[in-house]
Amino acid sequence: MTHHVVIVGAGFGGLAAAQGLAGADVRITIIDQRNHHLFQPLLYQVGTATLATSEIAWPVRHLLRKRKEVTTLLGAVTGVDTENRKVLLEDGGIVAYDTLILATGARHAYFGHDEWEPFAPGLKTLEDATTIRRRVLLSFERAEREADPARRAALLTFVIVGGGPTGVELSGAIAELAHQNLPEEYRHIDTRKARVVLIEAGPRILPSFTEDLSAYAHASLERLGVEIQLGQAVRECSDQGVIYGDQPLAAKVILWAAGVRASAAAAWAGLPADNAGRALVEPDLTAPGHPEIFVIGDTATINAWHGKAVPGIAPAAKQQGTHVARTIRMRLRGNTAQRPFRYRHSGNLATIGKRAAVIDFGWIKVRGWLAWWLWGLAHIYFLIGVRNRLAVALSWLWIYATGSRSAHLITQGEQRPRPN
Ligand SMILES: Cc1cc2nc3c(=O)[nH]c(=O)nc-3n(C[C@H](O)[C@H](O)[C@H](O)COP(=O)(O)OP(=O)(O)OC[C@H]3O[C@@H](n4cnc5c(N)ncnc54)[C@H](O)[C@@H]3O)c2cc1C
Repeated sequence: MTHHVVIVGAGFGGLAAAQGLAGADVRITIIDQRNHHLFQPLLYQVGTATLATSEIAWPVRHLLRKRKEVTTLLGAVTGVDTENRKVLLEDGGIVAYDTLILATGARHAYFGHDEWEPFAPGLKTLEDATTIRRRVLLSFERAEREADPARRAALLTFVIVGGGPTGVELSGAIAELAHQNLPEEYRHIDTRKARVVLIEAGPRILPSFTEDLSAYAHASLERLGVEIQLGQAVRECSDQGVIYGDQPLAAKVILWAAGVRASAAAAWAGLPADNAGRALVEPDLTAPGHPEIFVIGDTATINAWHGKAVPGIAPAAKQQGTHVARTIRMRLRGNTAQRPFRYRHSGNLATIGKRAAVIDFGWIKVRGWLAWWLWGLAHIYFLIGVRNRLAVALSWLWIYATGSRSAHLITQGEQRPRPN
């Protein structure tokens, strides 16, 4: 019987593993709870009405259509029977494996306050992005019809919690939307007066960047009209707004860009995990005591970057997927030597609105418009398919030249009964 590799998760890590196994003497089953591979680095642009959902996601089945040895299954995994080597699905389905790759990523975390989620959605899935887009655009619509000044001010206050790359990108894009793109479309409100408040508990934004790049990002965001509050953690989120430090701030839109929690992969397989739920893996990315199980990407943690933890970013997940595929190929040839994974870091990137970015390649740092163009080229290069690359490049050039965004649609709202 041909060796059966089961990959759970068709994100960056899982897809890289499937690609790395092309031509190997294996059968592959790839299982994902969604039918699409998602390019998360551009999710904030869907959330802020720049790109359409179809420009950053692709059906997994279609991506792998030419690989006859690959079966794609839509299903949510809820457990792993490590003794009998079986993956258990939510709907009762069972998939047996010879080798298992768990690549199920992470979600945002609320530091023990999951009750905040309805008031402060995070950004991880296409549904999250369209929820954010709907809330942001609806808030302007409601403000246009609101007579009470205090309620109107709350509708025009946008709070972003967390000053990492996602929080910086979201706040810059919302500030541009409010202050540059929307003003001429409204008659009763001045969207230039909308407040965009970025709250970060630490002493500076973009803590994973050098201090000078972080200071540059801070100044650039302020130029876009973003108010930055440092050193104060959010203590409460509700439908009225937030409390940070001792201050209440009335706001109808709160976006959560702080904290990460790994998928439950470690728990499924009974593996040791860190505080964020990430599986602690062996140097070769296998599960302790289970050489037939690999755990990769955001759902695992390993100190394989010159002794430091590998960051939870797409290139790291891809490198791990490729590494695991090579290990499996070598094992099939009879070489079972342990192959430790080593992460190669190529840089940190974050955009600030549509004209500036910061990039830290380690050996060189770039900021401003040149960094924005490099960021844009890199992201277009990593998108899948010529049509999407052209569509995204055209959308950006159009916005860059005209300031007008095409994806201002409020869709997928709650269903409401309609009068006949
Ligand atoms: C808003 C945002 C912006 C980001 N920006 C950047 C950036 O600019 N640059 C960068 O390098 N990284 C960025 N990242 C991080 C990057 O996207 C992740 O590090 C990367 O996606 C991790 O890859 P992965 O394969 O581990 O997981 P993912 O790509 O998240 O894939 C996990 C897959 O597993 C599936 N899955 C989860 N649970 C189950 C289950 N129970 N059953 C079946 N399937 C399941 C999911 O549907 C998903 O398809 C960003 C992340 C976010 C959320």
